[in-house]
Amino acid sequence: MNVEYVSTRDNSDRVSASCAILRGLALDGGLYVPTSIPKLSRSLTELANMDYKQVAFEVMKLMLSDFTDDELKSCIDGAYDSKFDTEQIAPLSYADGAYYLELYHGKTIAFKDMALSILPYLMTTAARKNNITNEIVILTATSGDTGKAALAGFADVPGTKIIVFFPKDGVSDIQKRQMVTQKGDNTFVVGINGNFDQAQTGVKKMFGDASLKAELDKAGYQFSSANSINIGRLVPQIVYYVYAYTRLVKEGKISAGDKINVTVPTGNFGNILACYYAKQMGLPVDRLICASNENKVLYDFFTTGTYDRNREFHLTSSPSMDILISSNLERLIYRIADCDDGTDSELMRELREDGKYTITPAMKEKLSDFYGNFADQKETEQEIRRVFEDTGYVLDPHTAVASAVYQKFLSDTGDDKPVVIASTASPYKFTRTVMRSIGHDDPDKSDIELTDDLSAVSGVKVPEAIEEIKTAPVRHKTTCEVDEMPSVVKGFLKI
Ligand SMILES: *Cc1c(COP(=O)(O)O)cnc(C)c1O
Repeated sequence: MNVEYVSTRDNSDRVSASCAILRGLALDGGLYVPTSIPKLSRSLTELANMDYKQVAFEVMKLMLSDFTDDELKSCIDGAYDSKFDTEQIAPLSYADGAYYLELYHGKTIAFKDMALSILPYLMTTAARKNNITNEIVILTATSGDTGKAALAGFADVPGTKIIVFFPKDGVSDIQKRQMVTQKGDNTFVVGINGNFDQAQTGVKKMFGDASLKAELDKAGYQFSSANSINIGRLVPQIVYYVYAYTRLVKEGKISAGDKINVTVPTGNFGNILACYYAKQMGLPVDRLICASNENKVLYDFFTTGTYDRNREFHLTSSPSMDILISSNLERLIYRIADCDDGTDSELMRELREDGKYTITPAMKEKLSDFYGNFADQKETEQEIRRVFEDTGYVLDPHTAVASAVYQKFLSDTGDDKPVVIASTASPYKFTRTVMRSIGHDDPDKSDIELTDDLSAVSGVKVPEAIEEIKTAPVRHKTTCEVDEMPSVVKGFLKI
């Protein structure tokens, strides 16, 4: 089956997978979605006997039709290698009645690595396939996590450069150290005198600047984005749900065909959407449990059918889920609107102009796969403590939100099918909250110093990613004003 991609806002904008990866966003501002979702072509038992890379190949080749087998295999080999600290890539840990799918064994110990390790390879392959000879320059503004994962993914990938802007005083110490110590001759990191929104606006301006584009083109460069709406990030995320299910089969925890539930700590709705696509491909997933923190815009949407971003924004202990506009939800809206680009465009216009929209009862009926709920910060810390005291297993705050929401699901529905909980960050990334939750905080110690204490109480080795930043030299010292961003970029590119 040949899968192509269309814009959620214009079905006549129809492109190949490689073109969708190069563009990121569709020209009309919509998101690219597959024209159809193919069924898995191998049986669950066959997949159970494959390793991560083989499963990745079987899943991704169905969604990326215009990549040859050899191209795809070389992308997968480049991505899922010893950068990960376990050969399983995404291992399952059983604790207290749930299987935690640990998506944090990559370079930056958070789940963004799962997709950002392979995106650079997919992108350079896509450029070759579309006869693009310019070097790709990834331009990103970050509030912390995505920037580092993108840097680690693109570092030293031939044919690419990556430039990351972060708010100089607006990220955590660990996040800042992770970025300014980044290796790779093609990496550039800049602290701006401004906040995240200003960094983001500055980057968007450069993307839209026609004369800058022409200057770049003349010098053999073009901008691209590693944004989470790129299907080159979404497709690799389908893989680990298939992998997790088939590991349970392999280990005899379930039989092939048994239904499981999946819980996902959700922000931009990319991770859980990938699980929804896995279900459409035939993976026996029953309910998709969408977990939010106090920014519970998605919980309200699933309960009322109204998406409303007009509300107070909360800064929480699970910062990667502090989001009021979940961009990837548009792809689900498009599907429950029976792929009608007109309906989707209209709802997204309402979101832009009024900050809210309401779906029809018929659309809402199609959301029965989903269950939404949320956990506040107190419940999140209690969940970290509960699981630790019961089992010794330590959750990071994002995973703890998911775990607490799963407990609510259990008591609401009594549905105790085997459950996989997506574990999206290592507790070592959030030592302060974690240590406070389990009663071992020490206010005199820095977040980094607390990592040794966490290791002592949990018995889990401090990850390489943390050990590295303790001693790594600072390589990136550039800072600038917001309006200097374009000249800084030109300076790096020597144009
Ligand atoms: C990005 C992120 C999330 C949210 O994932 P989405 O795909 O945006 O829903 C959850 N947890 C962590 C640790 C993250 O970095």
